[in-house]
Amino acid sequence: MEALTRVVTLDDSRARIVDIRADLGVGDAALRVHGLSPTVSRETRDRVRAAIRNSGLSWPEGVVHLTASSAHPRSDVDLAAAAAAVLVTEAVPARRLTATALIGELGLDGTVRPVPDVRTRAIAAAAAGFTHLVVPATNAAEACDVPGLTTVPVSCLNDLVNWLRGGLTPAQRPESREGASPTASWTPEAWARLSPTAVRAAAIAAAGGHHTLHVAAPGTPTLLLPRLIRALMADLTDTEALEVSTWHFLAGEPAPDRSEHLRPPGVPLLPDDTIATVAGSLSRPGLPTLAHRGVLTVEDLPELSARIVEVLRPALENGTIGITSAAGAQSRPAGARMVFTARDCICGSVRAEKCRCSLAQRARYLARIPQWLLDRVDLFVREVTVAEPDPSLPSLESMREDVARARERAHSRWGAAPEPGAEIDYTKAIAGLPANAVRELEDAIRHGRITPRTAARCLRLAWTRADLDGRAHPDIADIRLTLSHRSGMLRLLRNPAPR
Ligand SMILES: [Zn+2]
Repeated sequence: MEALTRVVTLDDSRARIVDIRADLGVGDAALRVHGLSPTVSRETRDRVRAAIRNSGLSWPEGVVHLTASSAHPRSDVDLAAAAAAVLVTEAVPARRLTATALIGELGLDGTVRPVPDVRTRAIAAAAAGFTHLVVPATNAAEACDVPGLTTVPVSCLNDLVNWLRGGLTPAQRPESREGASPTASWTPEAWARLSPTAVRAAAIAAAGGHHTLHVAAPGTPTLLLPRLIRALMADLTDTEALEVSTWHFLAGEPAPDRSEHLRPPGVPLLPDDTIATVAGSLSRPGLPTLAHRGVLTVEDLPELSARIVEVLRPALENGTIGITSAAGAQSRPAGARMVFTARDCICGSVRAEKCRCSLAQRARYLARIPQWLLDRVDLFVREVTVAEPDPSLPSLESMREDVARARERAHSRWGAAPEPGAEIDYTKAIAGLPANAVRELEDAIRHGRITPRTAARCLRLAWTRADLDGRAHPDIADIRLTLSHRSGMLRLLRNPAPR
């Protein structure tokens, strides 16, 4: 199977058409990009891979090789590269791409970002005989009146996939800033595939500043959960946004689009990140600081070195990270909601049916997750998608409102909305609870089933649940649920269930 897409790129401000060919090779799921400069290849690979996974599209089985016919494209190649990768796996039909060129950069969350000089490119595409041009929605106005060319504005990768599957050509939204809105890339189709338990866990994490562990069977999209948590979080205030962009500026990252600068940051930490990148230095903030006030996604946790996981300990415990060097010591903010993802077996199969790992092998693999980390994570999620849409699933907008109200309730009770790593005052936290709920918790501590630290975390989680539901205080059912959630997680990690 082969696929071909075309991008209109710029070479010294002259437009050129470049072919992107995709082939499917044998091997573990991976994406390789050839024909571009090494830096562009690496960045394209990372963005395309993350965008496909974060859009809820299944990751291709085998190795996808993408080859560009010339080295000119830069980040404008992303959309054509992602389209080639989904075409080669026959996830979408190729019919609509026979006379179509594509331009657009992808964000890690699947949003399509604007590119420069769209009008020059549109004229070149029409001159080369293309009838359609897929463009970032924010650029649509520049391309809309080129004779003989129909523009297809897309604000996220799912818009493109819907169009390739035969959906209506999206209406032109020349002034649209929807790419930046938290609801933009959740098409009703993608939203309906989420499991209600994952949506509930994401709301709890967003409302209460909790950390999450997502243990996924092969083939489960692992980036949906962090993306969902971010979508449910409120915009930053101007002061918070300034603080966040200062850290990103220090790290040498381009300033976010004006429309995006109020959104909480989303930062991935991958197993091949070095300890220097994660921990940071006096001159450069580390990843937990870049994710401050947003979401840090720690992918493939069992693959991470123990040293790197250890760097995250203070960030998990109190939302800070320390930098020491000959020049001095500094403490930096690192208050990110963390989502740890782990496959539940070592073999790297693309689908659960292909996994031949024994239960003992799977338990050994999961045992690489240190116990201290499990004591600092509140939520445990297994399934994030469902085969059949659940009609009881609330809308993203109503979930966002619930989260905002829950944070207001916590704010008026504690004097501050809960942030990751914030201490909970145990005495204050049990003050509002019914006596039987307090007894349940204290019995668990007395019998050694949980430590006082874990009890405090359970209490925090119970309060978030009550705040989200609009109840005055947690009751014994909340306490029992948080305790059994925790023991269930530990049991499943020690004895993975047969598939
Ligand atoms: Zn396996």
